[in-house]
Amino acid sequence: MTDFTMKTDADGVATITWDTVGKSMNVMNQQGFYDLDALVDQALADDAVKGIIITSGKPDSFAGGMDLNIIAKMKESAGDNPAQGLMDGLMATHAVLRKIERGGMDDKNKGGKPIACAMQGTGLGIGFEIPLACHRIFVADNPKAKIGLPEIMVGIFPGMGGTTRVTRMLGAMGASPFLLEGKLSNPQKAKAAGLVHEVVPADELLSAAKEWVLSEPKIVKPWDEKGYKMPGGAPYHPAGFMTFVGASAMVNGNTKGVYPAAKALLSAVYEGAMVPFDTALKIEARWFTHVLLNPSSANMIRTLFINKEALEKGAVRPDVPDEKVKKVGIIGAGMMGAGIALVSAMAGIEVILIDAKQESADKGKAYTADYMDKGIARKKATPEKKEAALALITATTDYAALKGCDLIVEAVFEDVGVKAEVTKKVQAVVGPDCIFATNTSTLPITELAKASESAENFIGIHFFSPVEKMMLVEIIKGKSTGDRAVAKALDFTRQIRKTPIVVNDARFFYANRCIIPYINEGIRMVKEGVKPALIENAAKLVGMPLGPLQLVDETSIDLGVKIAKATKAAMGDAYDDAVDELLFWMADEGRLGRKTNAGFYEYDDKGKRQLLWDGLAAKYPVADDQPDLIEVQNRLLFAQVLEAVRAIEEDVLMDIREGDVGAILGWGFAPWSGGPLSWLDMVGTPWAAETTNALADKYGERFKAPDLLEDMAKKNQSFYGRFDPAKAA
Ligand code: NAD
Repeated sequence: MTDFTMKTDADGVATITWDTVGKSMNVMNQQGFYDLDALVDQALADDAVKGIIITSGKPDSFAGGMDLNIIAKMKESAGDNPAQGLMDGLMATHAVLRKIERGGMDDKNKGGKPIACAMQGTGLGIGFEIPLACHRIFVADNPKAKIGLPEIMVGIFPGMGGTTRVTRMLGAMGASPFLLEGKLSNPQKAKAAGLVHEVVPADELLSAAKEWVLSEPKIVKPWDEKGYKMPGGAPYHPAGFMTFVGASAMVNGNTKGVYPAAKALLSAVYEGAMVPFDTALKIEARWFTHVLLNPSSANMIRTLFINKEALEKGAVRPDVPDEKVKKVGIIGAGMMGAGIALVSAMAGIEVILIDAKQESADKGKAYTADYMDKGIARKKATPEKKEAALALITATTDYAALKGCDLIVEAVFEDVGVKAEVTKKVQAVVGPDCIFATNTSTLPITELAKASESAENFIGIHFFSPVEKMMLVEIIKGKSTGDRAVAKALDFTRQIRKTPIVVNDARFFYANRCIIPYINEGIRMVKEGVKPALIENAAKLVGMPLGPLQLVDETSIDLGVKIAKATKAAMGDAYDDAVDELLFWMADEGRLGRKTNAGFYEYDDKGKRQLLWDGLAAKYPVADDQPDLIEVQNRLLFAQVLEAVRAIEEDVLMDIREGDVGAILGWGFAPWSGGPLSWLDMVGTPWAAETTNALADKYGERFKAPDLLEDMAKKNQSFYGRFDPAKAA
């Protein structure tokens, strides 16, 4: 069976229908390109055919994108010359799309047959690049549909003509949000932006397309006509020149030079704008080849696309029956509880939100109302949706309301005693079979489970703040946690559309275990006299979204003090107090970070972050000799990645995919690298071990390569070579 079929009706309109076998949404594969090409040839050659409609066999979408194996196959197709294989493969796809665009016209733009694309809904990536090659794009008026080119989000760019066509349609400035930011639009917005031509009721989609095809329309694209000028001006035009100057600065500002795709995209647009269309496609293919050969792109695709999706679809879910949540009890309606209630209600789950006082519970529920009001103001939500969400949340102090819950998420104060008391009170109502999850960020799950009648049904579900924004959920198994609890936590995470990782219980679990040493390394450097600006900029230039000092300001210095004290109490002599002096001093000074409008940074009256606080230098003077940028960056990166390696060694991380996905989604670890383990593979374990051991000689034992890294370095092994579960499967 093929994914593309064609039927010609009595009026001479050939309809090519794309219907990927066995998938709910169309996905382009290698054979699909061949089949589409052959059908277009056939229709163009057939005198009985007056025009063509390309559409989808799926009821409400056109296509979700491309099977990324196509890229792998292209790479392999030219033996030991992957660049050649990619270039040839890309040019072959350009030829198919260009054939559609030319519609059989001759060199003088005479003859040819009109080709319309009729999109039932969503069209992403190649699922929008095919429509872009057609002469007219019709879309069903389906407000949920998403149309656009999101490639940049996973470290590549639209390389099947999307870059060149959208730039020529909208100009460099107009194309920028859709190419450089991967902005997606619903059909009406896509029409307003000039990306599609007609939005019609779903049941009139094919008839509207057919009517147009039979209307003997003009089909030549503007860029194939003499005298075409790029909207907004090409680079040699004064206005165009200014656009590119601004765009280059913006791209470098946003990417700090570490994301190859954005820069390559801009180069393809700039160079392509100065040459005829077919040459521009060749330039696009070259830059796309360049990006596809960069390990950063391959790593980002693996982590942010393939592995993230695999985890969301339950790659590590135990094989037990469906554990979808129907009614969740959330205990503690503070910052976290309120957020968890919001995302649960938005997923259609009934919520019982409990706090010690009714007014606190009400305040927690009001968080959902506020969030929805903001959404309504920004036209992202409707009053009906707000009412529906609020109707699902019962705010109360009465534990009896928990009856019938199939999941409890506890988010009360971070205190073993308070948590134990709450666990007992809850279980008196729901019984021991109900899965009980704690949102603790620092307390051992195994320890907290002692208060429960069933350690098997006790688990950690660690959300990050703010809950509605942060995509990662860390699920923590205590020593006795059973499969049903893990399945429940994973099914819940899927319902609320977040990405889960499942880890074993250990101090700070996974994410906090890696991020705390990053923050601490920044503070240690301040103490040593490294310029704070050097520390912060080094972090950003290596792709961290926030420097370590800004991060402490955001999470608050008193939280740091609290964690330091609790860790010291738990670890005793093994505790390293290197950062305590500085942290405690800042807290004593009342500089608690953003929340007090004073921390490592200064803030204006409106809370806007200003410069680094110069009072820091009075207490910790800046040294005359400053380390070089790379050394600062290595310290900041190794502080995190060595913890990820130790987490594997100690069996906290059971799957390296989770180590990478969790790092990027949980604390923003340099996304361009694909995650800490991908980064180690990119730089090579021998270099990593040697470099970090040199740091250990200079700065202390914490940098000593863990045994696992040492062993891998000796064997020149990579993490994905040794541990990739996808390979083991
Ligand atoms: P919070 O202080 O904002 O909220 C805690 C809420 O629990 C308060 O409303 C309080 O009235 C209520 N509460 C306390 N004792 C109670 C009891 N016996 N019965 C019912 N309600 C009770 O705290 P938070 O920041 O929401 O944190 C809650 C939990 O989530 C903690 O375990 C914390 O470690 C964890 N956590 C926090 C973050 C974060 O960034 N704040 C992130 C992840 C996890």
